Amino acid sequence: MLDRPKTREGWLARAAALTIEGRAFIGGSYVAALDGATFAKISPIDGKVFAHVADCGEADIDRAVKSARAAFESGIWRDADPLVKKKALLRFAQLIREHAEEIAILETLDVGKVIGNSLAVDVPFCANCIQYYAEFADKLFDEAAPLGARDVAMVRKEPLGVVGAIVPWNYPLIIAAWKLGPALVAGNSVILKPAEQSPLASLFLGRLAKEAGLPDGVLNIVPGFGEKAGKPLALHPDVDMIAFTGSTEIGKLMMVYAGQSNMKRVALECGGKSPHVVMPDADLDAAAEGIAWGIYYNQGETCHAGSRVLAHSSIREALVKKIAEVQAAKIPLGHPFDAGAQLGAMVEERQMERVLGYIALGVREGARIAHGGKRALAETGGFYVEPTILDGASNSMRIAQEEIFGPVVVVIPFGTEKEAVSLANDSIYGLAAAVWTRDMGAAHRLSRAIRAGTVWVNTYDRSSLATPFGGFKQSGFGRDRSPHAIDKYMDFKTIWTHYR
Ligand code: ADP
Repeated sequence: MLDRPKTREGWLARAAALTIEGRAFIGGSYVAALDGATFAKISPIDGKVFAHVADCGEADIDRAVKSARAAFESGIWRDADPLVKKKALLRFAQLIREHAEEIAILETLDVGKVIGNSLAVDVPFCANCIQYYAEFADKLFDEAAPLGARDVAMVRKEPLGVVGAIVPWNYPLIIAAWKLGPALVAGNSVILKPAEQSPLASLFLGRLAKEAGLPDGVLNIVPGFGEKAGKPLALHPDVDMIAFTGSTEIGKLMMVYAGQSNMKRVALECGGKSPHVVMPDADLDAAAEGIAWGIYYNQGETCHAGSRVLAHSSIREALVKKIAEVQAAKIPLGHPFDAGAQLGAMVEERQMERVLGYIALGVREGARIAHGGKRALAETGGFYVEPTILDGASNSMRIAQEEIFGPVVVVIPFGTEKEAVSLANDSIYGLAAAVWTRDMGAAHRLSRAIRAGTVWVNTYDRSSLATPFGGFKQSGFGRDRSPHAIDKYMDFKTIWTHYR
């Protein structure tokens, strides 16, 4: 294996040498869209076209569904010996690790995240997730119900059939793995529809799955746009479930599509506006560290980014200063292939404009830019936004209610614990939250009172495959990660036998 490049030029040369696969992966082969359509993939790093990707539509989705259905009905995967499934999925995870560098480069080219994180986080987390669920293959037990002596009822859990996974562009590999791992180990066939902004690393997984021994048709990867490819997948009468991660707006459409078609199961992980509650006795250095990483990591393009800071009035000013210091010292913005850069490019021009639009809106609404606030590195042609703090906001402002999905944190003062709870819960979202305090009583009260799928105490964004992830309220329902995630890809069946 070649040594890892150490410079931007080295990485760009390695990227230029890659053969990029932009075709769909259906039935175990890479295929062009049936009508031959492609779309240009623009790099967020320099605004230039660097690949062409199959622009799939209804006919391609139908082809993938037929292939997935045939694989499912054949029983080749569903009914395979658990050890066979485990071996294939473990090999799949291992192959992802072996190809880490190529996959990481594709992920960075696609979405603009820094290469160090693609290598250290996105690729290994994806592999670890597939491995985690592979280990369940021979550990999932069914039940026998407590009945009288002449009756035996098996309560079996069976795979649903064909699962559509529609995923976003912020953590393309990790979120895909959160769906693929549990759906596949449960015995389903899957059609993965990556976001139009981020198809390339996902498409690479197709050949690795095949090499690992997943039978043809069990995993299909169909790139394309939301309306053109995602919608026919979600409306398809022969798809049994949609596992979706993305915006709340499109998440709601998934429920509509399910209702308009075959009442398919839907699991949704949607937006967030996750609050940090910083109490007056908090360790401000620790809080500033947690807040800065929690909003600036991955350019703030994180559904559970801690984007609302509710700061007690007595410490607000000091906290804002410390957040800015942590950013400047530890989370520098830069070209995603530069060593040391921690914050890269926004995924696309539209997203950069949207974030800059929210910053301008915040100022019009009466907030003050305490840090950053502008486009950066414009000379590169790429789409960069300075890490930003909007101070002196109120919770009713749009910047405090709407998901910005960029490196922008909004700081809102509060006076009492009761007020903090009410502000934290004054949101349509409920994905995550954090409480910063040295008072364990307050930590306990606040973490119970805040309606969110995860509440961190004196930390932020620590995660494990063992803990469920997902939201309350309009952040969605159904959980990724943990053993519980497997349940949503299965249904109970009772098989009752009576002995005379
Ligand atoms: P974001 O706002 O983060 O781009 P979206 O919710 O728009 O998130 O997209 C998440 C995923 O949903 C992507 O794969 C996208 O292509 C897909 N998508 C968008 N619109 C639709 C739609 N109308 N039907 C099905 N899928 C869609």
